[in-house]
Amino acid sequence: MNDERSRELYGRALSVLPGGVNSSVRALRPYPFFVRRGEGGHVIDADGNRLIDYVMGYGPLLLGHGYPDEVDARIRSQLSDGAMYGAPTEVEVELAEFVARHVPSVEMVRFVNSGTEATVSAVRLARGHTGRDEIVVMEGGYHGAQESTLVEGGGTDTAPSSAGIPSEFAEHTHAVPFNDEEAVRNIFNERGDRIAAVLTEPMLGNHGIVYPIEGYLEALREITAEHGALLIFDEVITGFRVGGLACAQGKFGIDPDLTTFGKVLGGGFPVGAVGGPAGIMEGLTPAGDVFQSGTYSGHPVAMTAGLETLRYAAENDVYDHVNTLGERLRSGLREIVADRAPSYTVVGTDSIFGVTFTREGAGGEGECEDGCRQRPSCPRFDSCPKNGADVANADTERWERLFWPAMCEQGIFLSANQFEAQFVSYAHTDEDIEETLDAYRAVL
Ligand SMILES: *Cc1c(COP(=O)(O)O)cnc(C)c1O
Repeated sequence: MNDERSRELYGRALSVLPGGVNSSVRALRPYPFFVRRGEGGHVIDADGNRLIDYVMGYGPLLLGHGYPDEVDARIRSQLSDGAMYGAPTEVEVELAEFVARHVPSVEMVRFVNSGTEATVSAVRLARGHTGRDEIVVMEGGYHGAQESTLVEGGGTDTAPSSAGIPSEFAEHTHAVPFNDEEAVRNIFNERGDRIAAVLTEPMLGNHGIVYPIEGYLEALREITAEHGALLIFDEVITGFRVGGLACAQGKFGIDPDLTTFGKVLGGGFPVGAVGGPAGIMEGLTPAGDVFQSGTYSGHPVAMTAGLETLRYAAENDVYDHVNTLGERLRSGLREIVADRAPSYTVVGTDSIFGVTFTREGAGGEGECEDGCRQRPSCPRFDSCPKNGADVANADTERWERLFWPAMCEQGIFLSANQFEAQFVSYAHTDEDIEETLDAYRAVL
């Protein structure tokens, strides 16, 4: 791959942007390629290289790069009417109605500008609603760049995972392994009356891809309800991707008290949201006393992009297409992995996919034809990654240093490490999938 222009741009970037980027995950080794433009399921970089793109903006681009004509026209029309006003508009009501109509647990929505802002607001609302300070998160779980959830360690023995965060924040945040019902029960038995909420992705999508063991989400629902704590699903990745318009909560049949959204909800523009029943959501100002506000919140252009993207998905075969391609890709990967790297685990569901580089010991034919489903009857059940620590123990160095660059050379753009998921978009084709499987075959 010729990369002269990208290298030159990165040289300039290093002088004016810390680390040369605006989001740490983009600082690829030894330097990132700079994108000139996107085209459907592909990106073209500054040197003219074309890659099949499964990063898709790290999740938001359900339809791929660019918009179908009618979506494009509505976004442009809003833009020419003025970007924003600081007064309410019809489109934010319509998008809220759309979300409330499709997502089982949601009656009301507060729009914000990112997934981070959504989880910050949801945690504040849960604390205000319950009058309690402590929260429980999953070890290794990611909920954006926010003080209350950037923790490392386990149980009540947590510390901030970043410099610049007072340790008092971590004192209020406990961490348990995903898929470990007993760990949650123990912490609630010990201090249940102090816990405001359990905050988790319904299926890990941002620290490896890990499916919930059957009964786990049900247990979280039951334990939180029993102790008067809220269950918050962070659906920033899974929302409007896993389970289609009903989101992962619809797929798994669990109603959380609060849900956070982002990524697909903005159709490529910066949008986040908190949703839930009126009895909790009306705790937010100006209806209630939990302060929440934002200059750009409900931004008309972003709302239009989100609404038109989701409407398009509702009226066309978008979820059928992306889920079918996802399935084809994962079953192809399973065959390749069985042949080339039998200890590896193919993960994902719907339009999310990945290969976790599970180490030796995990071999053997499993039951999962297109991605690990954590079935206890599967011969691989004991060795497939169950939580964030298991994913972290897989061969991350091999992924980053050997696998990722080799896939790039083959013209396939994957996420920079095995903690981030890969996404199939509506713009991807059968040929893209074949080409991608050939690349895996050559590289693994
Ligand atoms: C991406 C993500 C966030 C943070 O969203 P930003 O828009 O990057 O602030 C939070 N939670 C999950 C599960 C995410 O995947």
